[in-house]
Amino acid sequence: MKYAAVNNFINGQFVKAQGSRTLDVISPIDGNHLSSVPMSTAMDLNKAVNAAKVAFPGWSRTPIKERVQVFFRYKYLLEKNLKELSELVQEENGKTYGEAVAEIEKSIELSEFATSLPQLVTGEVLEVSKGVECRTEHVPLGVVASIVPFNFPSMVPNWTIPNAIALGNCMIIKPSEKVPLSVGRLASLLKEAGLPDGVFNVVHGDVEIVEAICDHPGIEAVSFVGSTKVAKLVYQRSTHNFKRCLALGGAKNHLMVLPDAIPGMTAQNVAASMSGCAGQRCMAASAMVAVGKVDHIIEKICEEARKIVPGKNLGAVINQQSKDRIERFITEAEKDGAKILVDGRKTVVQGKEKGTYVGPTVIDFVKPTMSVATEEIFGPVISIMRTNTVDEALAIENANPYGNAASVFTQSGGAARYIIDNASAGMIGVNVGVPVPREPFSFGGWNESKFGVGDITGKSSIEFWTKLKKSTTKWNPEAGINWMS
Ligand code: NAD
Repeated sequence: MKYAAVNNFINGQFVKAQGSRTLDVISPIDGNHLSSVPMSTAMDLNKAVNAAKVAFPGWSRTPIKERVQVFFRYKYLLEKNLKELSELVQEENGKTYGEAVAEIEKSIELSEFATSLPQLVTGEVLEVSKGVECRTEHVPLGVVASIVPFNFPSMVPNWTIPNAIALGNCMIIKPSEKVPLSVGRLASLLKEAGLPDGVFNVVHGDVEIVEAICDHPGIEAVSFVGSTKVAKLVYQRSTHNFKRCLALGGAKNHLMVLPDAIPGMTAQNVAASMSGCAGQRCMAASAMVAVGKVDHIIEKICEEARKIVPGKNLGAVINQQSKDRIERFITEAEKDGAKILVDGRKTVVQGKEKGTYVGPTVIDFVKPTMSVATEEIFGPVISIMRTNTVDEALAIENANPYGNAASVFTQSGGAARYIIDNASAGMIGVNVGVPVPREPFSFGGWNESKFGVGDITGKSSIEFWTKLKKSTTKWNPEAGINWMS
């Protein structure tokens, strides 16, 4: 084992979990045994909630301008340790080093946003009647939880950690059991940045701990990022227990390519979107709708896809199970009559034979009913469907139950606006393959890609991580009593 066994982080200390069950942490790059991760029990969660509860009064009463000083220092520590943090993300997740660096840079941007929260959470005050003032304040919720997926071991945790904590909450995070190492490093950096003990806690585990989080009476709010199947379970279970919940799910993002699209730029964007992070992004282009005569662009997409080399500029997928699943999708499409233009099946990287790689795959003449058109594949695969009109393309996009992102490639402002207005997705790109809104704009999809109100990042996250207190004050006895007194 390259690293020591992973521990929970409770009340500012790394502590052994009580549960005896563990899982191996394996690098998708080469099958190297990195560590082992404990499957904590409800007792471990209890300890973390108790520590967070004890820390909450002190932390929530610390003025926000003081609280965000921790995140100025945390941002600096992320910058200072960028190389080491990126290498760890690369090793446990399998993405390329450049993609891992981008993930840490995004984590830095997320901390930077949190430091601006004092400017954004000012309440309101108004004299609503003679001498009577109403005032609103954003008040932290208490102990909150964040449950995260494997595909961004640092960025997705940082979607929630800086904002929730800067806004005065204490947090329990449950990392993905597939990539548990990065969050441990984040915990050390938060401590080094001066975060008081108990404000941030890490409890490792799987289903048992997720269910315990949803059920725990000491936890006020649960944020979840992962597949739609689990997002629904977490949303139902935590709201059933009267908790606030925001659960982000899976995706099937459509790119609509119109005949007037700029061929080179479009092909580069499509290829980068479908293959970046080995297609394991909830914002990845997974389906493309070719509108009219765009064969010349499809040819260029294949040229671009062939430049993407597994083990070089394409990372590994998370594990063998995932590789097998992706390859099954491709084989099924082929059997159903689709044409495989670029085939990434049976990829082996020399010297990394135990790595789990799938090469870039372009599938043409896909029917909207095939599984490669309807399901989230989560691999470097693009399924191309053909239509004659923009409305037919939109009908395909709208029929999909997900709604994270959609993009259009065109030079026509009118066509682009029509697609922005009519696509059924929360985040839309125009000539942009991965339309992630950057701070201060918020991140969040629609339909089966998100359950709950508001978005997880940016200004919108303030509503999720705080509750509003409204006070009405009168200091002038001479004002007398009126209808609103
Ligand atoms: P996942 O749903 O399998 O796991 C997410 C978390 O839930 C993990 O911490 C895991 O331990 C836990 N979990 C897994 N199965 C569970 C169960 N049956 N009951 C309770 N908890 C369970 O997701 P993943 O495979 O880690 O991540 C990939 C998925 O996440 C994709 O669907 C991707 O689209 C989605 N994702 C969505 C967004 C978004 O913003 N919408 C962002 C990143 C990833």
